[in-house]
Order: sequence, then structure tokens, then C-alpha cells
Amino acid sequence: MDIEIQLATEEQKKQKPADSELVFGKIFTDYLFEVKYENERWGTPKIVPYHPFILDPATTVLHYAQEIFEGMKAFRHPDGSIHLFRPYKNAERFNRSAERMSMPTVNKDLFVKAITELVKLENEWVPNSPGMTLYIRPTMIATEVALGVHPSDKYLYYIILSPVGPYFKTGFTPTKVYVASTHIRAAPGGTGEAKTGGNYSPTLWSQQKAKALGYPQVLWLDAVERKYVEEAGAMNIMFVIDGEIYTPPLDGTILRGITRASVIELAEDLGYVIHEEPISITDLIDKILDGSCNEIFCVGTAASITPLGEIFYKGESYLVNDCEVGKITQHLYDELVGIQFGKIPDRFNWMYKVQ
Ligand SMILES: *Cc1c(COP(=O)(O)O)cnc(C)c1O
Repeated sequence: MDIEIQLATEEQKKQKPADSELVFGKIFTDYLFEVKYENERWGTPKIVPYHPFILDPATTVLHYAQEIFEGMKAFRHPDGSIHLFRPYKNAERFNRSAERMSMPTVNKDLFVKAITELVKLENEWVPNSPGMTLYIRPTMIATEVALGVHPSDKYLYYIILSPVGPYFKTGFTPTKVYVASTHIRAAPGGTGEAKTGGNYSPTLWSQQKAKALGYPQVLWLDAVERKYVEEAGAMNIMFVIDGEIYTPPLDGTILRGITRASVIELAEDLGYVIHEEPISITDLIDKILDGSCNEIFCVGTAASITPLGEIFYKGESYLVNDCEVGKITQHLYDELVGIQFGKIPDRFNWMYKVQ
């Protein structure tokens, strides 16, 4: 499982941007990790200078979207050390996605080792400024050259890194969601649970519609009844009702967020009551209107915990807690982000030290 490393020349290395210039996912580091799969086995894993891929126009991923990915972050702690957040959870989910998409799985230790070695080599790219991280994107694509609809017999697994700024440019302020009532994200028996590219392009239509109305995020309902709240864009969702926390159950159409699982554990540890139960959009709106639901927040790697201040559903908008950040949301955010950035002791053993 040794990883071959090909060092970049000084000319191949990029100018590093100032932390203040960072936005999400536009700049990539000097190296990538790659390994090819053919003849039913993985080849030599390599870390090489970042480079474009040359793909035949008939490469299967370009036609039928046999592709999976992961999203995770490396955090710099006050002592300068670098840590990943629960990387084995991403390895497990990557392999679940691989099975759903008829792709080969990756050895979990290699998955984590590849990230660790790559981040170690790129440690200067891990931002030092508060709230900034190095985003990690493991990806697998089908690379057989063929137009027939069948599982590819060749794959490329690669990892790229991107330094990213804080999600909240204006601080920890509530966002707004548009509830999609005509389109759906995932249906029972479909691929909603897999992190596969094809789940995202069909959501762009609703996202555009939401943006035009001034809502940066879409909230999805279940595909069968268009009634139960599922999740938001690339984040799971939680509600505080009468002081207790509710989140939709994992029923196969919702992505199994690692932040979601961690916030459930954290909330229980902090003494909150948390329920995994379906909640209908109409019940939710009733509870927002009578004040019993006074906090809603979204959870995911990109934005950790995002408070939600306004919901738009079928032509009406509803304010949650007067668009102020709620107490429980703030408490969970401070704890989670505190652990991730090494400001609070990691009592769950979630952080995985890179060097
Ligand atoms: C990645 C993702 C999430 C969040 O998962 P995390 O592991 O917490 O980052 C939620 N929903 C969707 C659709 C996603 O793609």
C-alpha cells in the first residue's frame, strides 16, 4: 500500500492566495492523489503534481454519470497541527456509494492514508486564519471507453484539495430556504443516499428558481407525497420544537450526513432530547406560526451548522425566531466547531491527526 510520490518542480508550484481571498472550491493545490482500476484490481497509488486528465470523448462517466465523491475538511489547530474530522466515516460512505453505483470499493485504510499523505505534503496550503480549512474532494469516475450502458471495467480514483474560506462571509447569520413543491431530489429506490454527481444536476433547476426569489438554498420534500421534509441542498436539517430537537430519519432518500450523525451524538451528550422522526411541511409551518418551533438549522461539512431564518413555501414566506440565531443552534455550533478547530477537548475522539 505504499504511495509513490512524484515531487513537483518549483515552476509547477502555484502561488498561494492570501486567506482573505479564498472562496469555496475555486483554487486547487500543487498535487493530487490518483490510482487506476483495471483488470479487476487497483494499480499503484500515486501522489503527483496537479494535472488535467485527458479523456476520450466516449468515456462512460461523460455519458452515464457513473461517478461518486466525498467532501471533508482538514482543520488547523492552535498548535499548528492538522486534523481530519472522522475520515473513516467518509471512507465507509464512499464505499456504500460505490456499491450503489456498481463501482469498485476502496480499501478504507488506503482511503485515509492517501488523504493523510496528500495533506501532509500540502500542509502549507492548510489556512491559518479563523474558520478557514482545506477542503478535500475524493472522487471516482468510470473511465472505460464505450457507449453501451453497463458498469465500466476501468475506473480512476483521485483526490484533490482546495483551501476554502468560512462559509459565513458576514458571520454566523441565518440563511433562507425555498421549499421545492414541484420538483424532487430523490425517490425511494433511487440514489438519494449515494454521493453521486447525478443527484445534483437535476437540483439546479429549483436552485435557480430559488435564487431568483432571493433564497440561497432549496429544501426538499419526499418524492411520494410531497409532504415530509427531507434535506436542504447539500445539508441535512434539524428543528427545535418545544425545546427538543427533531431530524428526518434516514429512509434511503436522505444523504447520511456525517455532520448529522455527529450533531445527534453531541446533542445527546449535552443533554438535549433528539428525535429521528418524519415531519410534514404543513405541521412544521403550523409550529413556526404558533412559536413552538423556534429554531431550524442545517448541518453539513461545507457550512458545519447553518441557522435557518426564513422558509418560503407555495408563495408564502415564514420567519423562524424573527430570523435570529437560536440558543441551541449556537450551543451546538460552538461545540462542534470548537472540537474541529481544537479549541475544545475532543471527548468523542473524532479528530484524526495528520502529522
Ligand atoms: C454531503 C451531503 C450532505 C452532508 O453530509 P456531511 O457528511 O455532513 O458533509 C447532506 N446532503 C447531501 C445531499 C450531501 O451531498
